[in-house]
Order: sequence, then structure tokens, then C-alpha cells
Amino acid sequence: MDKDRLKKLAREKRFTPGIYNYCDRWCERCTQTFHCLNFACSEEEFADPETRDIENEAFWSKLSEAFRDALELLKDAADEHGIDLDSIDTEQSYGELERKDAMAKSHEVCRAAKVYSDIVQDWFASPANLLVAHPGLAEEEASLEEAMEVIRWYQHFIYVKLMRAVRGELDEREEALDDLPKDSEGSAKIALIAIDRSIGAWGTIYGLDSFQNEKILRFIAYLDRLREEVEETFPSARSFVRPGFD
Ligand code: SF4
Repeated sequence: MDKDRLKKLAREKRFTPGIYNYCDRWCERCTQTFHCLNFACSEEEFADPETRDIENEAFWSKLSEAFRDALELLKDAADEHGIDLDSIDTEQSYGELERKDAMAKSHEVCRAAKVYSDIVQDWFASPANLLVAHPGLAEEEASLEEAMEVIRWYQHFIYVKLMRAVRGELDEREEALDDLPKDSEGSAKIALIAIDRSIGAWGTIYGLDSFQNEKILRFIAYLDRLREEVEETFPSARSFVRPGFD
């Protein structure tokens, strides 16, 4: 999509600014697609099924096109705000990014979320896991499938959002933006929602295979502890108002 088309689309009144910043990115299940500029762009940009197929060359050329357009828009925005992109010391900026990234990775909530995504990965890969290998064994097949989907969707998402929350908090400390909604809190809130939903999903499958019960209880306890740690780290996250959702 060229930048003029994007600018025209962005002017439509139906869109809620920033709605896509604190959603769970599960567009197939989202009730707010009509109000989401990000969704509208993807639908328009990737309307051809070939451009949605990662194995197809059309997908990659469409992606390069999208990057080029984004770069053009960035340059325009920089010009508008009188920012000279060439004057930015990229080496220093990269160094700073790396430093904050390392700090975020070593933060306890991010470490815990990473462990969670890894152990869930192992659980799904385990050949002894009959819930995954033979879902038909469970009487409540539909709810099992649904719960598995939820667990899978949020498995890595929690870590990604917590990384953003912790990194954001490091930036906010430097910028001291006291009166503005904090990106760190919005990111922590969607991570908390993902944790809540994951706990619910584990609860749904608890009891379907007695051999898995102990493990499932451990997952629930682990997530519950993580939830507490996130709430302690970001005490205002639950009251953050997410545009379009809260
Ligand atoms: S707000 Fe909804 S449609 Fe937009 S990116 Fe998020 S999940 Fe997808």
C-alpha cells in the first residue's frame, strides 16, 4: 500500500487510535476489527491469498514493499517534525537498545515468562502427552481444542509483552512522562490478561487426563505466581485503559 493510500485510510473516522498497541493480536477473534487501522491495512495489503502464504514469493515481495512504504512514511514524519534521521548516532542508539534489552531479559518477570514458554513447548512436544497426541481420548473434545489454542496463542505472547513492558518502563524513567498513559502499563495489562486466560484454559483441561493433572496444576501455580509478580512490578497495570477495549 503506498503512503498516500495509507494516509487516506488512516483519516477514516471509524478507527480507534492506538487500538492495536494493547490488544492480543488475535485478529481472527477480535471484536474490534472494524475500528483497527492495522487490520484494515493487512486486509487490503494481503488480500491475495498468495501474499498470505509464507512459502510463496509473493508473500516476501509484499513484505519488502510494506517495509519500503513504512520507511517512506517514517522519513516524511521525520521531515514534518524537523528531525534529521542522518544525524542520529545509530551506534550509540543500538548500544542503548542492547543495554536495555539485556536489562529487560534479566528482569525476574521476563525470565519467568520465558521459562513458562519453554516448559509449555516441552509439554506440547512430549510423546507421553495423550492430551496432545490423542485429543479424542477426552470426552470434552471441543473445549480441549479451544483451551489448547488459547494456551498456544499466549505461550510466547506473555514473554514478548512483558519484555516490552519492562523495556518501556526503563525508557519512561528517563523521559519522566508523568501525566501520559504509560506504554509499560498497557503492555503489562495485556500480558496479565493473557496470563488470566491461560490459567483459565489450563483449568479447562485439568481433569481430562489424570496422568497430566499434576503437571497442569504446576502450570497453573506457576502462572499464578507470575501474575502476582507482574502486578507487584506494575501496580497500576490493571487500571490502564486500553483504547477500544476497556
Ligand atoms: S485490535 Fe484486533 S484487529 Fe487490531 S491488531 Fe489487535 S486483535 Fe487484530
